[in-house]
Amino acid sequence: MLKTRGYATTGPRAKLGPFNFERREPGEHDVLIEILYCGVCHSDIHQARNEWGNSAYPMVPGHEIVGRVKRVGPAVTRFKEGDVAGIGCFVDSCRVCDNCKDGEEQYCENHTVATYNGTERDEKTPTYGGYSSQIVVDENYTLKVSPDLPLAEVAPLLCAGITTYSPLRHFNAGAGQRVGVVGLGGLGHMGVKLAASMGAEVTVFSTSKAKEEDAGKLGAHNFVVTREARNLAPLAAKFDFILDTVSAQHDLNIYLNLLRRDATMVLVGLPDKPAELQAFSLLANRRRLAGSSIGGIRETQEMLDYCAEKGITSDVEVIPIDRIEEAYERTVKGDVRYRFVIDMETL
Ligand code: NAP
Ligand code: ZN
Ligand code: ZN
Repeated sequence: MLKTRGYATTGPRAKLGPFNFERREPGEHDVLIEILYCGVCHSDIHQARNEWGNSAYPMVPGHEIVGRVKRVGPAVTRFKEGDVAGIGCFVDSCRVCDNCKDGEEQYCENHTVATYNGTERDEKTPTYGGYSSQIVVDENYTLKVSPDLPLAEVAPLLCAGITTYSPLRHFNAGAGQRVGVVGLGGLGHMGVKLAASMGAEVTVFSTSKAKEEDAGKLGAHNFVVTREARNLAPLAAKFDFILDTVSAQHDLNIYLNLLRRDATMVLVGLPDKPAELQAFSLLANRRRLAGSSIGGIRETQEMLDYCAEKGITSDVEVIPIDRIEEAYERTVKGDVRYRFVIDMETL
């Protein structure tokens, strides 16, 4: 077994702190990765604090992982020592169900193995995430990362990037489309960059007036402060697609009303409390409300390659690991521009 250092929490109200544990020796198809950077996703906070009610402790969060390959198993063909590699939100799945065969492993019918707060396929061994010195993952669930981009800025692509890229592609956002992004945080700012890069006219809906200038720099064409309902009225039925990235309970109906006929709003944000839905908001204009969860391995690789080609990365604030609690507090307040990333050398 491989002695591994990490940062863990032991309960919903505990603070994160140093935690030593063991990872398996790399098997035939495994890659051992020394972790260089790990992004701080709001899902880390929801789960560290048991806001979804499914948390297991001790928990080592982190699923936006970039690192360097240290060792590979004898049957590994896609990676060699020294390569830059990425790990996202899951590290295995059943591989045989229809969804796995379609490359949509995040919807595995049997068991998508979450990178942390989950169990391996044996349903027993807990998985520990990226707030740690190293990780061992099957090469089929490991992503190739271009060494040409700043790696701290690439880490958030592994969750925030794919979670916004996948629905934009699935619902054909692009040139000639009006796309709305609700919430300008980690996911939201990637949604803006990606939608703009695909040619869409992008409008940010934000509670934070102070983010207006940034939104423009990220590629947004319009910015709407949502605290005043009158700002939304003139935009009724104007949008082809809306991506809702908000992490807390909020009114969905005011955004549904902005969709034109047959247009779709996709929820990617995962508030702990349910939303109230007015049937009228959907019936008018035959609107659709959908959800989307991260993306499969094939699409995640496609997204990484797309970002490398277009020079798209995340706007990050790199922190030492002992500032993780402060980073959580600031993220919850919406005070992050636009992703905290842990420099794992500080572990
Ligand atoms: P984040 O960086 O904290 O961004 C969330 C943004 O939502 C905030 O910056 C803020 O933007 C807005 N917001 C927060 N509280 C609000 C409130 N009470 N009312 C209205 N707006 C509010 O979080 P993130 O990492 O982007 O994650 C966002 C959500 O997506 C989380 O719930 C996370 O768990 C979920 N998630 C889902 C997937 C998936 O596969 N579907 C993947 C990753 C994350 P403004 O300041 O602009 O208003
Ligand atoms: Zn995430
Ligand atoms: Zn499966």
